[in-house]
Amino acid sequence: MHPFSLVKADSTGAAIEAGRRGGRFIAGGTTLVDLMRETVEGPERLVDIGGLPLREITATPGGGLRIGALTRMAEAAANSRVRVMFPVVSQALELSASAQLRNMATISGNIMQRTRCTYFRDVSADCNKRRPGSGCAARDGHNRMHAILGASEHCAATHPSDVAVAFAALEARVRLLGPDGERVVPFAGFLLEPGATPDREQAIRPGELITAVEIPPLPRPLRSGYLKVRDRQSYEFALTSAAVALHMRGGVIRTAKVAAGGVGTVPWRLPAVERELLGERPSPELWARAAGRAAPVRWRTTGSRWSC
Ligand code: SF4
Repeated sequence: MHPFSLVKADSTGAAIEAGRRGGRFIAGGTTLVDLMRETVEGPERLVDIGGLPLREITATPGGGLRIGALTRMAEAAANSRVRVMFPVVSQALELSASAQLRNMATISGNIMQRTRCTYFRDVSADCNKRRPGSGCAARDGHNRMHAILGASEHCAATHPSDVAVAFAALEARVRLLGPDGERVVPFAGFLLEPGATPDREQAIRPGELITAVEIPPLPRPLRSGYLKVRDRQSYEFALTSAAVALHMRGGVIRTAKVAAGGVGTVPWRLPAVERELLGERPSPELWARAAGRAAPVRWRTTGSRWSC
């Protein structure tokens, strides 16, 4: 592990100032510490933001929800508001990682977590995400769990978060506070597809701190859920997953929000599936027809040998 210094931020202002000077934020530490041990990452300065008052879960006007950035995954999953208003979020969290990790990891850390591509974590392998321009060992290597959607010739690593898939489906927004003030970024634009710069993963500026994730109001009654398919039934990343939220009136689907995980370089919204569902009455035939619209929506890998 590289030597580093650690400062504890006692206010959001102090954290942002330390971040502006190049400090890396750390809270639960469940990803970053591992990466530092493996020398994949070597920040010189860590800024401990774990004590900042960003752990509240509050209802917003009209029926939305604001989840503080430093809320632990387990806290958010168990929160009664989350469970009642957006079960897709609590289910996605409960199907993530292990109980120990969920007790430590935060909501913002979860959506910021880095890929589980084996070669990214192997410092002897070529990896454009870890070392831009070095190549991509996964192209001719083990890539069974790599992305079939949103890949570029430079990288096809999937985004590992489950709750990010739920946030994408629900059209959540990420609230950021930085040296230039506050801004709100739609979740769809927060996590970046790799393109030619796979090392750039989020639309976040130097010194910016995530303060909350906000889920906007959706028509009620709303039913939602998260389904995850994986090689084993616990402590495993998704081969594929789906976050679905439906509002029905008069027996007909009036609002449909659908996203897939495990198959894209970012959580992948499925508008063609949503269109197939709208105005229809639920039936096994409808589910099959809608699922048939899910993939491949578009293949964006060019000139590569990804063996998907
Ligand atoms: Fe690195 Fe992406 Fe290639 Fe994996 S798929 S080795 S993360 S460039």
